[in-house]
Amino acid sequence: MPATPSESATLSARRARILRRYWTQAVLFDLDDTLADRSAAVRRFASLFYESLHSGYVRDEVVESIVSGDRGGYGSRQEMFESFDRRWPESDLDFDQFVDMYETEILSAYSPDPRVTNLLDQIDQHGLPWGIVTNGTSFQHKKVRRMGLEGRTPCVVVSDEFGHSKPEPEIFLEALRLIGHPDRTHVIFVGDNPEADIMGAKSLGMRTAWVHRGRDWPSEMAPPNHVIGHVEELGPILFP
Ligand SMILES: [Mg+2]
Repeated sequence: MPATPSESATLSARRARILRRYWTQAVLFDLDDTLADRSAAVRRFASLFYESLHSGYVRDEVVESIVSGDRGGYGSRQEMFESFDRRWPESDLDFDQFVDMYETEILSAYSPDPRVTNLLDQIDQHGLPWGIVTNGTSFQHKKVRRMGLEGRTPCVVVSDEFGHSKPEPEIFLEALRLIGHPDRTHVIFVGDNPEADIMGAKSLGMRTAWVHRGRDWPSEMAPPNHVIGHVEELGPILFP
């Protein structure tokens, strides 16, 4: 027997609710400056480095120069030390002290953060797979471990280990494989880098959430689906 108009309306409302509820099938996150505030740690490191100079530099100039030249810590420690040594030969740090100071400060940004773990708990409770896709070296695993996230997901893809980096499609496809090949259009990618994270994920048809970190979205680029100040704001987006 065909459904009456009111039964049909009820059914389609129910179907819409179910579809909405299960719209997001998986979530992929960038790590640095998305799940943890790496930039603040770079700034702390830059201040400490300035103090090692003992000479007439202007603190803000040294700090800003290090912050803008940091490149996400992607270069080797040796290259970084050599470039600092050329630029600021007055520093009394040797290579080992430099690396120790750098790694200690950077890692200080990576500790268990309830705003992050609460969101991940919520994602787990809904049974959605999630993962981390990060450009960097094996040092990234140290960060994940310190945040208490090791072993919580089978998907931690690090560009140096995998051989491709964001925004190359291969690294996103590897993450999708590790979380069980969900329909890409039902996956949200969350990141702070417009090019590497948002454009990279968008080009594969994923939805995107951009962590703005106080910046405006670059007007020449197609906008992300969501703009957020912190990943904790994802809760209502994922589970309305
Ligand atoms: Mg990032």
